Formats: sequence, C-alpha cells, structure tokens
Amino acid sequence: MNKKYDNFISGQWVAGAKYAPNISPSNINDVIGDYAQADAVQLDLAVQAAQASFPAWSTGNIQARADALDKIGTEILSRRDELGTLLAREEGKTRPEGIGEATRAGNIFKFFAGECLRLTGEIVPSVRSGISVEITREPMGVVGLITPWNFPIAIPAWKIAPALAYGNCVVFKPADLVPGCAWALAEIISRSGIPAGVFNLVMGRGSVIGDPLVNHPAINAISFTGSQSVGERIAQQCALQLKKVQLEMGGKNPQVILDDANLPRAVELSVQSAFFSSGQRCTASSRLIVSDGIYARFLDAMKQRMATLRIGDPLAAGIDIGPVASQAQLEQDLSYVQIGEAEGGVLVAGGQRLQCGTEGFYMAPALLTDTTMAMRINREEVFGPVASVIRVKGYEEALAEANNTPYGLSAGIATTSLKYAAHFKRHSQAGMVMVNLPTAGVDYHVPFGGRKGSSYGSREQGRYANEFFTIVKTAYVGD
Ligand code: NAP
Repeated sequence: MNKKYDNFISGQWVAGAKYAPNISPSNINDVIGDYAQADAVQLDLAVQAAQASFPAWSTGNIQARADALDKIGTEILSRRDELGTLLAREEGKTRPEGIGEATRAGNIFKFFAGECLRLTGEIVPSVRSGISVEITREPMGVVGLITPWNFPIAIPAWKIAPALAYGNCVVFKPADLVPGCAWALAEIISRSGIPAGVFNLVMGRGSVIGDPLVNHPAINAISFTGSQSVGERIAQQCALQLKKVQLEMGGKNPQVILDDANLPRAVELSVQSAFFSSGQRCTASSRLIVSDGIYARFLDAMKQRMATLRIGDPLAAGIDIGPVASQAQLEQDLSYVQIGEAEGGVLVAGGQRLQCGTEGFYMAPALLTDTTMAMRINREEVFGPVASVIRVKGYEEALAEANNTPYGLSAGIATTSLKYAAHFKRHSQAGMVMVNLPTAGVDYHVPFGGRKGSSYGSREQGRYANEFFTIVKTAYVGD
C-alpha cells in the first residue's frame, strides 16, 4: 500500500477524485507514493478559496507576508539534502543537481521575502496645477501557476514566491509526472503562517484540469512554463478572455565555439550544457556551432570527454547523468537520434539505450555531426541528451546560424576575442547570452526569459517578476 498524498485547498488536505502512482524514472519498481488527481470540481473549489482570501491577503500586513516567505525559504534550505534526494528520485537529475535546485528554491523564497518590503511607487507632478500623480503597483488577484516536470521545485518556487510576495492568491498545478516535490513544497507552505486559501495545490492532469483552470472566470492571470504547443493553446484561451498571460517555453539553444576558444573550457561547457540534467533543461545547448579552425580538435576532445561521463543511478555517488524523465521522453530522444541520422547526420557518440542495473530510462548522451540548420534535429526541441554539431567558416556564419531558429532562450559563445564576445552579446537574438559559460545555469535574482518562440509576456525572476504579478494604478490627487 503506497502512501497517499492529497491536494491542498483552502487550508485543508483534500482527497483527490482519484490517485496516480509517482514512479521513479531510475527504477520503475520504485513508487514514491500515490498522488491525488483533481477534477474540475475540485479545481473550482481551489479557485473559489483563493478568490475569497484575496481581499485580506492583498491588503494585509507586509511584515507577516515577508516572515512567511522567509520561513518557507529557511525550511527549504535546511531540508535541501532531503528535498534534493526526493527530486533526484522522482525526476532523475543527479542528487547534487537536485540539492542545487532545492537550494535555489530556498534562495528564491528568501529573495522574495525581502521584496515584500521593497514595494515602492512614484509620486510625480501633474502637468496641471494643484494636482499630484501617484503611480503604484497592485496585485493581479488570483493567479494560476502551471509548471513543467524538468525543474520540479525551482520553477514552482520562482512562480509561487513572487505571486505571494506581491499580494496575489495562488492556484498551483504542477506537472503530472513530478507531484512529489510540488507536494513537499506545499506542505512547507501549509505550515508557514500563510492564511487558508491564499495558496492552493491542485495536482492532476493538464488534459483534465488545464482548461478549467485557464478558463475559470475568477482566475486573473496565468503563468505557464512548458512546451510551445501547450503554451500557444493557453495564450489563445487567455487572449479570448483578455487575461494576462506569461509563457516560458522551449529552446534550441546554440553554443558557438570559435577558433580562438580555450579548447578544454569550450568542451567542458558544451558537455555540461548539452548533457547534464540529461539535457532536459530549456536552456540546454542542443546545437554546437563550431568554426573550421578548431573543428577537428573540438570534436576529438568532445568524444574523449563524453567517453568519461558516468551514467547511472542519480542517487549514487559519482554519477554525472541520470535517466531521462519518462518512457515517452526516452522514446522521443531515441527517435530524434534516428531522425538526425536519416537526415544525413553522423552519430559519433552515444545515442543508444543503456541498462544501468535497475529498470530505468537511461540513455548514452548522443552527439551528431555533419548536420545543417535545414534538418529537423536542429529546428525542433528534443529535450534530452542529444546534441548536434554544425560546422561554420567563421564568426559571421556562426552568428547567423545561432540566430537561425524559431526559438530564442539562451545562447553561448566560447571565444577569447573581446570583439566577437561584445558583438555576439549585442546581436544574439536570445533573451540570455553567455560568454565562456554554459547556456544553462542562471542566477535567481535577475530576469530570466527568452525571445521569439521561447517566451511570451514579461520576464520571470528577480525584481522583474513584478511586471507580471502586479498591475499599475495611476491616481490623481487634487489639493
Ligand atoms: P508540457 O507538456 O507543455 O506541460 C507543462 C504543464 O502544462 C504541465 O503541468 C502540464 O500538465 C500542463 N498542461 C498540459 N496540457 C494543458 C492544458 N491543456 N492546459 C493547461 N495546462 C496544461 O511541458 P513539459 O513536458 O512538462 O515540459 C517540457 C517543456 O517545458 C519543454 O518544452 C521545455 O523547454 C519547457 N521548459 C521551458 C522553460 C523556460 O523557462 N523557458 C523551463 C523549463 C521547461 P501535465 O503534466 O498533466 O501534462
């Protein structure tokens, strides 16, 4: 009999309409627990609870708000090992990566605890005599937060913390694949002193409760992270209802390696951002754009480095890369390797399923060479440990190919040239640019987001989060 985990609605733990097992991707015989699956009725109760709590929470004492967020952050940080281990077990990241993600989540709550006390406005003179103008920011109301499976505690944290800090009430729907971290986070929030109904956890399938959440008339704004196809659907629904929406979606991030790059550094950052966390990061580099003069040396060094990668149980010590997150993801990754080869790409490393002692979704990171930007492997997001190499003549062609994509989340360049680094920073069409750093790996206190098909709406994280979670009011005051 597995332990049952309920939804959290209006300050109560509420049994789901049904339950689904949460199965570890590193061992399908390891069931983490049975997690509640909400239906539309339960979703409606959560939205109603949030709506009822909004007047008091949005105008309540900001010290109490700051204290609650700080308490949540403190508990996450003090339990980071345990939460990171749960994350590794349910999502497949390595334990150190899981602990790092939990640490990030704790720090995010701490950051937004401080933001509760830094809500400011402006007073400006009117163009008319005897009048002053006040510009303030107010909370949006009830916000729906929808998150993907690849960062099961950090992404919920970077949506929930600012939503609460700026005075909103929350209905949170985590990815169906990873309810464990979401539930653990909700349990911590439930003991933080935040009043009943301000924060609600509704686990369940997007296909069942996604539409009722997005279309609920009492939901004022939706913040979504996930795939482009679901994001576009949500944006269309929100547009019809004139609801505020924020979307963070896929990536096909380029990593440019120029002739003058420091070779060991270029290899290390390419391996890290292409394959670590099983390549399941929206900021992963899946396109390695390499210039002629370094091409052969880079490829040799990449193959050597990839041969040293340790793939296996994410909870074991010394492992670099765990399994991918699900059977469906494994099938998608392996099929894209085949697609790349069928298009003319040459598989020079990895690309096959691995047996690692337990029945899990393990695969050897794949590297394909001889690919071009006309190929699907370079146009579509794979979202796994699969990278392809595009050979170019020099910087200008590298920049053009880096930008030749419908996505624009993160882009990196490895070079020792200040001139090329500066030009790339200015002319890359990505929302985030990295010089001599992996495309993945960002700070929690500065804006995060992309351009083109990767993002829609205002930025997440740092102080820029207030653009989404608040709305501006302009008040005119006569003498
Ligand atoms: P997904 O399939 O789009 O799911 C994302 C979330 O949307 C899940 O909670 C899902 O629920 C829910 N959902 C599904 N159908 C819905 C509907 N009709 N209405 C409302 N919600 C619905 O994405 P994923 O596979 O979890 O995550 C991988 C994707 O996320 C990749 O494309 C990756 O690039 C992207 N991502 C982007 C960023 C970024 O910041 N740009 C960060 C991380 C990940 P279920 O789980 O129940 O299906």
